Amino acid sequence: MQFKPLVRCVIFDLDDTLYDCLGQRVRPSHRHAAEAMVNAGLKATVVDVFRARMRAFRLDPMLRYIDPAVCQQFNVADPEAVSRAARDAYFNCPVGPLRLFRGTRPLLRFLHSRGVKVFIVSFGEPEIQKAKVRALGLENEAAIDRIFYADRDKLLTKEAAFGRIQRDLALPADEILIVGDRPMSEIRAGKELGMHTVRIRRGEFAVQEPRDEMEQPDYEVANISGVRNLPFQWGLEIPPTTETRSHGETHRQSGKRE
Ligand SMILES: [Mg+2]
Repeated sequence: MQFKPLVRCVIFDLDDTLYDCLGQRVRPSHRHAAEAMVNAGLKATVVDVFRARMRAFRLDPMLRYIDPAVCQQFNVADPEAVSRAARDAYFNCPVGPLRLFRGTRPLLRFLHSRGVKVFIVSFGEPEIQKAKVRALGLENEAAIDRIFYADRDKLLTKEAAFGRIQRDLALPADEILIVGDRPMSEIRAGKELGMHTVRIRRGEFAVQEPRDEMEQPDYEVANISGVRNLPFQWGLEIPPTTETRSHGETHRQSGKRE
């Protein structure tokens, strides 16, 4: 007998989860980083460096691979300084107009209408992430309870943000769902905390394979609209037919068979 797990809180990643970051942000950010590398002393044209970055990106999208690989290709004298300049520029690329995925706002509002708490935990330079949120029109979205900004300096990690949301809501981990695109980031953090996980497999990190069991999501979907159809019970709007109490926690089950 299989029951749909009750989900009372969904925590979304931002980039490549709620909007197409790869298409709308990644290429401009690599161009910005290429400019910074040239300004920091790399001897080549910005166009050549940009092309080298995108070639490296197709082999491995991680900046910690791309920056040194490009430095090596152009025989940079001080690869550490040039890589640092590239990373800073990448994360500080000015934000232009951005659009959500078509299915994002309907999903957020559906969850909210079912009484499910909705959070976003984004990672990056907090001021840039805030500018993205404004550009996407999420700042005043009533369906979102709160947006957290995890940062590169690790003042707030994703794990810490997830744990804090769980404590604030006083929900068991298995009533919380994490939705994101990166196995080694939000998927791992969610699984380590015992939360449900869904991977949106697209965008900048679509090629990354889970490195171990802890990066293997419970479900994988091609886009955000697929989340709603996964076998979860969204919120408590459907009256529970059974209720049991154990270890001081309330477990509700819809009684609906799949
Ligand atoms: Mg992401």
